[in-house]
Amino acid sequence: MKPHTFEFRAVSKKFGATLALKEVSFNIQEGVHVAITGPSGCGKSTVLRLLAGLDAPDRGEIYLNGAVISSSSCIAVPAHKRELAMVFQDLALWPNLSALENVMLGLSGVNCTQDEKNNRALEALKLCAIEGLYQRMPGQLSGGQQQRLALARAVALTPKFLLLDEPFSGLDLLTKMRLLDEIASLADRRKITLILVSHDPFEATALCRNAVVLNEGVIEESGLLAELIERPKSEILKIFKRRIK
Ligand code: ADP
Repeated sequence: MKPHTFEFRAVSKKFGATLALKEVSFNIQEGVHVAITGPSGCGKSTVLRLLAGLDAPDRGEIYLNGAVISSSSCIAVPAHKRELAMVFQDLALWPNLSALENVMLGLSGVNCTQDEKNNRALEALKLCAIEGLYQRMPGQLSGGQQQRLALARAVALTPKFLLLDEPFSGLDLLTKMRLLDEIASLADRRKITLILVSHDPFEATALCRNAVVLNEGVIEESGLLAELIERPKSEILKIFKRRIK
């Protein structure tokens, strides 16, 4: 079977007077983890929201396997039919539900019995190494455990693509390193392609082979991350190259 491919073709998005993205074009292919990086406010989260089908572009088109899924002010294929799941920056956990209920509620759009949902949710919690905490409320979990719960809720959907919007901000270095390793191994085992939004090239290199570097809504450079870091054009990768030397 051919790998799934997302394509942005000349995508622009405005918020009031702010042009968040200007004619942005790139591909994301199943099996190749990609980082969307760049300084704060450059349009990273906007790319993710458009990809997820949470927003529509003003101009340009987004394709999945050659078919238009979004075009000017139109979402032709809704979020839940894009074979992807998202972990938001603020995690968006339901505070009054247990860890298990959080994951089960994430499955509410899935056509299966409550028992099946229960089993899928427990399996996802196990994959994310927090099955022992299934009865806890989010407020009773540490920052790293909350991240794992948000991850479990996304993984339970068995997505082909997992969109991560700065999921490690606010975590201490050790927890972050552990999670990065575990997400890489989880993606490998479950054949999930990661699309990571991060302004931290360290996170990007830990997880992704490819990168799209944005600056003020335009692509500054894109391609193989290791090659980009060798001859960086963007300020963010120049700084990173200096830091890892
Ligand atoms: P990043 O994720 O790289 O920090 P964003 O994609 O969140 O950047 O934002 C890109 C630009 O669009 C910023 O200037 C931001 O202020 C603006 N923007 C994003 N979302 C909105 C919104 N809902 N309303 C108004 N402006 C927005």
